[in-house]
Amino acid sequence: MNLNKLLRKNILGMKPYSSARDEYTDLQKDMVFLDANENPYDTALNRYPDPQQTILKSLISKQKEVFPDQILLGNGSDEVLDLIFRAFCEPNQDSILTLPPTYGMYEVLANLNAVKNIQVPLSSDFQLEVDAILAAIQPHTKLLFICSPNNPSGNTVDRKAIERLLNEFKGLIIIDEAYIDFTEELSWTQALNTYPNLIVTQTLSKAYGLAGIRLGICYASKAIITILNKIKPPYNINTLTQDAALKALENKVLKHTQVGTILKERSRLIDAFKLISFIEKIYPTEANFILIKVDDANKRYNELIKNGVVVRNRSSQLQCENCLRITVGTPTENAQLLTLLNTLK
Ligand SMILES: *Cc1c(COP(=O)(O)O)cnc(C)c1O
Repeated sequence: MNLNKLLRKNILGMKPYSSARDEYTDLQKDMVFLDANENPYDTALNRYPDPQQTILKSLISKQKEVFPDQILLGNGSDEVLDLIFRAFCEPNQDSILTLPPTYGMYEVLANLNAVKNIQVPLSSDFQLEVDAILAAIQPHTKLLFICSPNNPSGNTVDRKAIERLLNEFKGLIIIDEAYIDFTEELSWTQALNTYPNLIVTQTLSKAYGLAGIRLGICYASKAIITILNKIKPPYNINTLTQDAALKALENKVLKHTQVGTILKERSRLIDAFKLISFIEKIYPTEANFILIKVDDANKRYNELIKNGVVVRNRSSQLQCENCLRITVGTPTENAQLLTLLNTLK
């Protein structure tokens, strides 16, 4: 793989913005900071945040066993994904590959960046059709998005199939691991040094309970991270987010306990769903949600809404006819859902 050949020409030659905090980086040192036109009066937030999030990255590096220079943080994974498009996809020329049914943001970002989205549907059990994917690659196909565990289906994607693509596809493969904390499967982060074309994304929005702070994590080769770093907005991770993320990552017990409860509740919901007559299929899940096929998704969705429960109607997605996606809630919320489902005819 030739990274410079994948890169957009304007990015190759471009000089990044250099902020005050990029030029003088030793924030811990007791200095008089008159370099960034900040208000000098201390409010705990009067200073610009660390543009490289050094402390946060070093903790993530330790916990996830990836070098700090192989990590980029974004304002949610959505920003990370957008940076990947902007670094590698020439508008009105390049294309990407997505595998529906999957996360809707890949398509939205493709449209936003004027990049063609070539879609190769997953099989009926939501696995990769490797031959069809390889056949669909065009000369200007730069990126391939794989979501595992997949949203909205919930299953993980077969490792051998992904390996074959990593070996044969000359572009970059992004594995979206937003739900990695809910499966026993290992993260693809430990394959980063084997595959120079691999990018892994994770987020604090799901298992860590911090969707509100917007923190996405991107892992890749040092070369790829250097490029993304060059084009990211200088202060894309604000101080409040960096502080909250540090706290959450340090509190391993809380996350572990909550994920444990969510997994137990997931099994309980699945067992209970089996006894409900209008639920026709429960798809295998390794995420914090369950995809079910019902007799009439629109009807059931509206009945649930009328009774105060909001689920996601995924009927319009490929191979998801009459499917609802239900997030695992607290034990009380799940009990409420089950009581309600049992009253519906
Ligand atoms: C929820 C989700 C994300 C999270 O995105 P953030 O911007 O980090 O909140 C990413 N990918 C998938 C597949 C998701 O379902």
